Amino acid sequence: MSKQTLSFQAEVAQLLHLVTHSLYSNQEIFLRELISNASDACDKLRFEALNNNALYEDAPNLEVRVSFDKDARTLTIQDNGIGMSAQEAIDHLGTIAKSGTKDFMGKLTGDQKQDAQLIGQFGVGFYSGFIVADKITVESRRAGLKADEGVRWVSGGAGDFEVETITRPARGTSVILHLRDDADEYLSAWKLKSVIGKYSDHISLPILMEKEEWKDGELINPGDENGGRQPGGMVKTGEWETVNKASALWTRPKKDITEEQYAEFYKTISHDHEAPLTWAHNRVEGNTEYTQLLYIPAKAPFDLWNRDKKAGVKLYVKRVFIMDDAEALMPSYLRFVKGVIDSADLPLNVSRELLQESRDVRAIREGSTKRVLSMLEDLAKHDKHEATAGDDGVTDVVDADDKAKEGKYTAFYAEFGAVLKEGLGEDFGNRERLAKLLRFASTASDSVSVGFADYKARMKEGQEAIYYITADSLAAAKNSPQLEVFKKKGIEVLLMTDRVDEWALNYLHDFDGTPLQSVAKGAVDLGKLQDEAEKKAAEEAAEAFKPVLAKLKEALKDKAEDVRVTTRLVDSPACLVVQDDGMSTQLARMLKQAGQKAPETKPVLEVNAEHPLVKKLDGSVHFHDLAHILFDQALLAEGGLPDDPAAYVKRVNALLA
Ligand code: ADP
Repeated sequence: MSKQTLSFQAEVAQLLHLVTHSLYSNQEIFLRELISNASDACDKLRFEALNNNALYEDAPNLEVRVSFDKDARTLTIQDNGIGMSAQEAIDHLGTIAKSGTKDFMGKLTGDQKQDAQLIGQFGVGFYSGFIVADKITVESRRAGLKADEGVRWVSGGAGDFEVETITRPARGTSVILHLRDDADEYLSAWKLKSVIGKYSDHISLPILMEKEEWKDGELINPGDENGGRQPGGMVKTGEWETVNKASALWTRPKKDITEEQYAEFYKTISHDHEAPLTWAHNRVEGNTEYTQLLYIPAKAPFDLWNRDKKAGVKLYVKRVFIMDDAEALMPSYLRFVKGVIDSADLPLNVSRELLQESRDVRAIREGSTKRVLSMLEDLAKHDKHEATAGDDGVTDVVDADDKAKEGKYTAFYAEFGAVLKEGLGEDFGNRERLAKLLRFASTASDSVSVGFADYKARMKEGQEAIYYITADSLAAAKNSPQLEVFKKKGIEVLLMTDRVDEWALNYLHDFDGTPLQSVAKGAVDLGKLQDEAEKKAAEEAAEAFKPVLAKLKEALKDKAEDVRVTTRLVDSPACLVVQDDGMSTQLARMLKQAGQKAPETKPVLEVNAEHPLVKKLDGSVHFHDLAHILFDQALLAEGGLPDDPAAYVKRVNALLA
């Protein structure tokens, strides 16, 4: 391929414009990004070589070399990893693939100063190089291709780049940064070593730099005030030394790892720019041996709701990287967890299919799930609101002191609580532990902070169930007519407004022996909370209302499964409920909106025989219209829409007129 000039994808050009036109407070992250790419490239080679040992060619020791040339003003990051073919260079360096970078693009504000700040935190992968370089040359050859199938890619970071085929005997990639005038400091071994130490100590790959030694200046005029010498300087010795710790972070003892190092490692594996909320680092011994380093992020990623999203755990076998996103290692409801699992038992050539069936993997998954739950229990215990402690006593979570954990569970729950609920339907073995971790708003608290245990501790004398309501929003839940009698009696009701609540609650019938009861399902039975006099009055009212009830049933037979008198209403004339085993009208509506089939069950209309409007029904000439208005209004009150809104309006208007 002879030299050709190609244009960047529009988004890359936009990004580059920003990178090349902003001033950074945190320039040095470019080196972290490029070394991290080099390290990924070596991981990829190691993995591909599992099935094709020839890929190592004559260089089996994977490494990164960082070098600089003061005269040419270049800084080079060279790896002997997988390399790129010409087409790969065009595809990978001309377009944005990484979701982290896309996420970053979405966060751009247009304000150059703010956006520059963001890049400084995030890093934008390869393109970070343009923070310090006004031109980047990449020379690469993919492992397995011939020497004359190398590629040179050159760009000044404006709209386009050049590519051509070159001969390159060495496998892997060199990224050559032609430094800007103001980036002199990176032409110093001391500076480079300090940046590498800060960001790349945890990388398992050795990062090499050429040793330098002091050389006195030449002797030219003995006897003058300098001792006759020219100024001396550092000169390269031709010997290379490893400048990072080069031991994978998770293999080091906990006591040797600082919080900053844990946080820095998290940022490299997660592409998140914020520090994690908490983490756990353990070596598990027993039938299956593995090391786990699991992080809980502080913020949800933008694609959290994609259930097909891959899990964030990387699998290593005996320190060899095997795969990203190993979904078999974490249940889907913990897909927000990031980290590394390094197994001592799995075969190196394990495939995704094999992972699904492996007993070792199942044990790792169970162990890791339990570990994440313990971390959450620990946070919950130290969050002000917690009433009960986690049940597995010992947790050796590496964390700052307990004080630092305050408020963290609330923060976690706001980001990931809804995903955690999926676990009720997914992980039966841990259902009870999960139930303890759930938090809701309630009629006693607007903030999402009430756990089932808190609720139970506040239950009224004689109360036999945990009451809850599901609705589209907190306002709809709080103002639902179904709550009226509970408010009147001062009984707390949990307000559930997450989309997954109703589905998830299907899998949880009781908490610690106390049944969960939706206030919108079945007839209200307040049990011992209702006194005898009230019961008697209700029965009498129902008896007296029987003839009207029969007429109502007849009038609404197409809409309502049944019509009955209720004691749950105080101020409202009517409400809709579903049979005990039915799907709520709200869930059915949601399913329909999502284009899914919902069972065509009709709701039950419950009427308040004491309400003036209901009392008017008896003998009214407008009976038919009133009956339908009653039904449609009950539907409106819970956020639904009448089947025929125009007919509803007509009826109301006729009565108003
Ligand atoms: P990311 O590394 O997050 O995917 P980058 O913009 O940093 O995003 O890099 C884009 C792609 O370019 C990488 O995914 C990889 O395929 C390729 N690449 C970058 N650096 C190297 C390298 N040193 N060796 C091989 N491929 C590389």
